[in-house]
Amino acid sequence: MNWLSNFIRPKISSLVGAKKDVPDNLWQKCPSCDGMLFHRDLSEAQNVCYHCGHHLPVSVTERLAILFDDGAYKEIKVRPVPVDPLRFKDRKRYTDRLKEAQAKTKRADAFIVAEGTIKGQKAVIMAFDFAFMGGSMGAAVGEAILVGAQTAVAHKAAFVVVPSSGGARMQEGMVSLMQMPRSIIAVNMVKDAKLPYIVLLTDPTTGGVSASFAMVGDVHIAEPGAMIGFAGKRVIQETIREALPEGFQTAEYLLQHGMIDMVVPRKELADTMGRIIEILMVKAKPYSPKGKSGSGSGLGKFVKGKANGAVEDKAKAAGAVAKKAGIAAKAKAIKEIALPRELSNEKPNDAQENVQQAGQEARAA
Ligand SMILES: [Zn+2]
Repeated sequence: MNWLSNFIRPKISSLVGAKKDVPDNLWQKCPSCDGMLFHRDLSEAQNVCYHCGHHLPVSVTERLAILFDDGAYKEIKVRPVPVDPLRFKDRKRYTDRLKEAQAKTKRADAFIVAEGTIKGQKAVIMAFDFAFMGGSMGAAVGEAILVGAQTAVAHKAAFVVVPSSGGARMQEGMVSLMQMPRSIIAVNMVKDAKLPYIVLLTDPTTGGVSASFAMVGDVHIAEPGAMIGFAGKRVIQETIREALPEGFQTAEYLLQHGMIDMVVPRKELADTMGRIIEILMVKAKPYSPKGKSGSGSGLGKFVKGKANGAVEDKAKAAGAVAKKAGIAAKAKAIKEIALPRELSNEKPNDAQENVQQAGQEARAA
C-alpha cells in the first residue's frame, strides 16, 4: 500500500542488486561455549564445535555420509503405509502436517533406510530424520524398521538404527504405540539370524522409541552429550517431587549407570562401529544340542517320578484325613487322587495301592 516500500525500494534493489548469493548464516554460535563457528570449518569437523567438542545436530543425510565408507550408500525403498488412520486433527489436520513436513524434508516420513559398508563391513542403517515432525514414530517409521531388518537378514548384513526422536507420533494414537512391539519383532528377526544389531543413540532419543527397539541392541553406542530417556526431566521431577542429579539423562550419565555400552565422539563412530561389526560377524557354528533324545526322555522320567511321588504323598495325606472324617470324605479324596493317574498311562503302582489301602481303612473306620 505504501508507495515508498512498494515501488521505490524494489526499484533500488533491482538497480543495486540484492545480495541473495551471500547466505546470512555463515557464522553460528556454539550453544555450549558460545564460541563463533564458521560454517565451512564446522561442516569439516562434522558439526562438532572445534572450541569445546560440543556435538551439534547433523542432518540425516550427513549422518549416513559420516557412517558409510566414502559417504556412499544405496537408499532402500519402503512400502507406503495407510496415511492418517484416525483422521486426526488438532490445530491442523494431520495430513496437512505430513504434507508440510514432506515439502520441507523431501522425504516420505521421518526415516531413511540405506545399505552400504562401514569400514568394509556390510550394514543396513535405518536412521531417523528429526527434521520430519521431530523424528516421531508412526506406522511409516515402524515399516522402515521392518524393511531395514528384513534387508539386513536377506543380505546377511549388520543392522544399525540411529534414533533421533521425540517418541511415538501422537497423531497416530494407538497405531503409533503398536510400532513398539512391531519394531521389537523386526529386531528379533535380525537376532534370530545371528546378525549384529547396533543402536547409535543420538540427541534426542526419548519416549516410545527409547522404550522399544532403541534399548535392546547388542551394543549401545551414544554420541557425547546426547539426551536419552523416556519421559522428560521436568515431568519426572514434578511426578516424584525430587530434584534429579546433575547430567541426568545424558549419554555420559547413562554410561556410568550401565544403561549404554560406550560414548563415542562423532569422528570415531565409523571406526568403532566397523570394528564392532567385524567382531560380531565372526561366523558362529549353528547351535546343535547334544544327546537331544536322551536328555528328553530323561526329563520325562524325572517329571513322571515327581508326579508319582506327589500322588503317593497325596494318598498318605488322604488316608490320614479319612480316618478322622469318615467314609464319605474318604471316597471323595480318593476320587480326586485317582484322577491324575487315569490321565497318565502309567501302570498301577505303589501310589495306587496306597490309595486303595487308604480307602479300605476308611471303610473299616
Ligand atoms: Zn563449543
